[in-house]
Amino acid sequence: MSTLNENITKLDGFLERFRDGGIMNRIAGQDVFGADGVFQNTSPVDKSYICDVAHGTAADIDAAANAASDAFAEWRDMPALQRKKILIKIAEGIEARAEEIALCECWDTGQTYKFMSKAALRGAENFRYFADQVVQARDGQQLQSPTLMNVTTRKPIGPVGVITPWNTPFMLSTWKIAPALAAGCTVVHKPAEASPLTARLLVEIAEAAGLPPGVLNTVNGFGEGAGKALCEHPKIKAIAFVGESATGSLITKQGADTLKRNHLELGGKNPVIVFDDADLDRALDAVIFMIYSINGERCTSSSRLLVQDTIREEFEAKLIARVNNIKVGHPLDPKTEIGPLVTEEHFNKVTSYFEIAKEDGATIAAGGVTVGDEGYFIRPTLFTNATNQMRIAQEEIFGPVLTSIPFRTEEEALEMANDIDYGLTGYVWTNDLTRALRFTEALEAGMIWVNSENVRHLPTPFGGVKASGIGRDGGDWSFEFYMEQKHIGFATGQHKITKLGAL
Ligand code: NAD
Repeated sequence: MSTLNENITKLDGFLERFRDGGIMNRIAGQDVFGADGVFQNTSPVDKSYICDVAHGTAADIDAAANAASDAFAEWRDMPALQRKKILIKIAEGIEARAEEIALCECWDTGQTYKFMSKAALRGAENFRYFADQVVQARDGQQLQSPTLMNVTTRKPIGPVGVITPWNTPFMLSTWKIAPALAAGCTVVHKPAEASPLTARLLVEIAEAAGLPPGVLNTVNGFGEGAGKALCEHPKIKAIAFVGESATGSLITKQGADTLKRNHLELGGKNPVIVFDDADLDRALDAVIFMIYSINGERCTSSSRLLVQDTIREEFEAKLIARVNNIKVGHPLDPKTEIGPLVTEEHFNKVTSYFEIAKEDGATIAAGGVTVGDEGYFIRPTLFTNATNQMRIAQEEIFGPVLTSIPFRTEEEALEMANDIDYGLTGYVWTNDLTRALRFTEALEAGMIWVNSENVRHLPTPFGGVKASGIGRDGGDWSFEFYMEQKHIGFATGQHKITKLGAL
């Protein structure tokens, strides 16, 4: 494992080209200036300038949507095995440049090398997994009825828009773009304005792997400009969106006139419920991992701890000791566990909850402070003596901040777990099998893990209920979004056709 200094030197080499040339939009295989000039990209580690980024607007989106539309027929009709080969080559390209992706991602977002080195490789896994699905993606069914042989087929829906957030942006982008390409769709990608570096690397890798020009286009810019225009564009048939719940609602409104199909992966305020019969050491490890890894900037984070009152004191004491021991520091230091928050705006939002917690009457049992003033660093934070009605229990803070709430009975735990707008994930810790079955049945969440942290398995459905989203990713669910089902009925005989106007 390389040291901090070695990583800094390597990063410097990788960033040189961005400093010199900035990041251009990539449309139809060409570098294109943004219609509205450039905006500046800075690092949350020390607030330093990284590079200029093309400021794309509706005009750039129009050019990219036209490019995606022009490239669609060729990509859709390319033999499946040929498309599969290209996707595998993209996975290989990602693996070959995994270190560059990881280091750039850390510098751009403040995420730590400890986690981003794996996230880059997970991006490659996404391409490999969906490459393996390319051939069967078009498979349909044959459904026999008395008078007809009914055949269903699937076709790619057309050019699609992919809009991604700044938390683990590379991995999340591949998660959307890989199945879209595997389905035979072409893509216009609008990455988050706060984290444009690795989206650029992805389109380069894809083109070097043989992806025809125009199949993947990248337009940088802001949500209200480029993002909105993408949702409104008539040639874009669907929007795969990952981001905040409020933005998800805007995506739906913006796509209404063009009847856009939307897949929304939104926010969460996910409960982890720890019963007193659980393996408490493992529960403790998982609780800590699921809120303090990835800077807590993770939609599936377990940001609400519901802990049974019989073990609360002991569990919280161990939690406080461990949280105070978490290493905050330079994200490129492989030993660092938490890096800086992504932007000044987000830092201000997360730190505002320190005051909110106090006003609400909760206790700051760990953290609750900023670290230095070079970048956007805070200590991992734990709020105790909280109730489920407090803002710190109801609102998505999206940082390394955990709210601990005691409960007495299973019924009370369930009521609190469900008493929230969100419904992305839930984590249940108990050794009582019947309780686990009963509890998971009633818990309102798209994904639940029992006696486990979040372990993603790509064939399983990923997505949320309530304000956490609409639609599912993973396995065949991804293809249901990126493809149209078609039904064709063939008469198998001379069945009776009702005659009108005949005597
Ligand atoms: P955000 O909603 O502010 O931005 C996400 C993307 O949407 C960005 O690219 C942004 O430019 C774009 N955007 C903003 N306004 C837009 C508009 N009007 N039209 C079109 N595009 C627009 O989210 P964020 O702050 O970047 O990311 C953090 C959020 O993402 C959190 O709420 C987190 O829970 C959520 N998230 C969810 C999942 C999931 O799978 N459910 C995964 C990761 C992150």
